[in-house]
Amino acid sequence: MTFTDFNLKDSILQAVTEAGFKEPSPVQKEAIPLVLEGHDIIAQAQTGTGKTAAFGLPIMSKMKADGSVEGLVIVPTRELAMQVSDELYRFGKFAGLKTATVYGGTAYGKQIERIKQASIVVATPGRLQDLLMSGKIKLNPQFVVLDEADEMLDMGFLDEIKNIFTFLPKERQTLMFSATMPKGIRKLAEEILNDPKTVSITKSESTNSKITQYYYVVQERERDDALVRLIDYKSPDKCIVFCRTKKEVDRLVAHLTAQGFKVSGLHGDMEQKQREVTIRAFKSGGIDIFIATDVAARGLDVNDVTHVFNYHIPFDSESYVHRIGRTGRGGKSGEAITLVSPNELRTIKRIEKDVGAKLVTQVIPTRIEVQNNRQDELIAKIAETQITDKAIELVKTLQHDLDIVTIAHLLASMIQNENTVKGKDIIGLGLEEVELLIERAMQQRGNDRGRGRGNYRGNNRRRQGGGGGNRHSRNGRSSRNGGGNRGSF
Ligand code: ADP
Ligand code: MG
Repeated sequence: MTFTDFNLKDSILQAVTEAGFKEPSPVQKEAIPLVLEGHDIIAQAQTGTGKTAAFGLPIMSKMKADGSVEGLVIVPTRELAMQVSDELYRFGKFAGLKTATVYGGTAYGKQIERIKQASIVVATPGRLQDLLMSGKIKLNPQFVVLDEADEMLDMGFLDEIKNIFTFLPKERQTLMFSATMPKGIRKLAEEILNDPKTVSITKSESTNSKITQYYYVVQERERDDALVRLIDYKSPDKCIVFCRTKKEVDRLVAHLTAQGFKVSGLHGDMEQKQREVTIRAFKSGGIDIFIATDVAARGLDVNDVTHVFNYHIPFDSESYVHRIGRTGRGGKSGEAITLVSPNELRTIKRIEKDVGAKLVTQVIPTRIEVQNNRQDELIAKIAETQITDKAIELVKTLQHDLDIVTIAHLLASMIQNENTVKGKDIIGLGLEEVELLIERAMQQRGNDRGRGRGNYRGNNRRRQGGGGGNRHSRNGRSSRNGGGNRGSF
């Protein structure tokens, strides 16, 4: 199936082609025909599955471009407003459809001017309510979209949203998009949607299968070392590290900066300007690592995020899904990596069940393993490198004073110094140890439900066994390193 199979306007199709979209995503396949037919819809699909185009393309295809505001898209945050607006602008530019972005914290005048020239307004609830209630603007949109509706409710925007709808025309087509469908969302849907069709992309389709999910079990005090080691090992092009608190964000920014990484923090307290500058730097590659809180990274759409790290496991499965959805976007593959302490194993198992995906447990590579890895990469890279004229000149100059072998040794040392892996050799728990802990955690859950005493004793015995297994597996790992066997990772 391609986008030409939908009945979209030529000017819109042209934009889709230019955007490089080949095949519609599952949510697009289902939603676009329904919206074109004029139905209200309530659609559930995870982040990164192309929801913007799922509503944007069909409504824009139906717009007249008559200079009035024909579409209103309500989104939870300023970042999202800008992103969605950018994406819609791309889709609408050949059809002469302008977008205006409306959010708090900036002057009213310019925004109002833009709204007057726009076909589509993308707005956050607070500022939009302001503008409507004060009578600064009047809107008569035929299409109204609630994007990331669950986020909006989580952020406490329910009253604003209900109020906004009192200013909107009764005759309209309303589309609601949400990654999750908690009760509050369904209730709101009943109030604002008219005989809606449901689009639900099942879990297996929606938990982006292009995201490989790993978790690593570490002791509480090992989190920093583990994170640095894993970043060293995975060498992500662009990654986001999720934390629970702003304080943690600040601390990690300092820690990783000191380790020589290009890092920046993103949290709710930052000035809007500063946030935009930071996000732009991240997009353009000036920053490789973003350290963020959940709120700050909501809906953040940066292409090419190769890895998402959960420094701490999120409190609930929905946050987990939102977080890992920052990678594997637009059909690319990505990795999600979660650090858990032994106490959190039950939480990770619950999340695994909730999201319906397999989270693979792995052992953190030792320093020597990472070092060996880099050596292999280095050798491959050297073999591939083209010799430049400048390099030939440099070697000639060096040869005035040094013999060729010494020159080679010096250059190799220089490269290796840049490539050393720091930190202690072994971080985190071994596989056997983790397996035992999981088993114990699951049994413990059985006990919590009031199972018999026999189980409890079984646990105690295992605990001793686990200790022994621990030492054993660590020795095993060290000797494997010695033997150069990295196959187990
Ligand atoms: P969601 O709103 O579901 O989180 P977005 O609409 O932000 O997802 O889309 C995520 C990314 O995927 C965007 O960069 C978008 O341009 C891209 N994208 C959307 N649909 C397609 C498609 N059919 N083919 C390729 N890329 C797509
Ligand atoms: Mg979206």
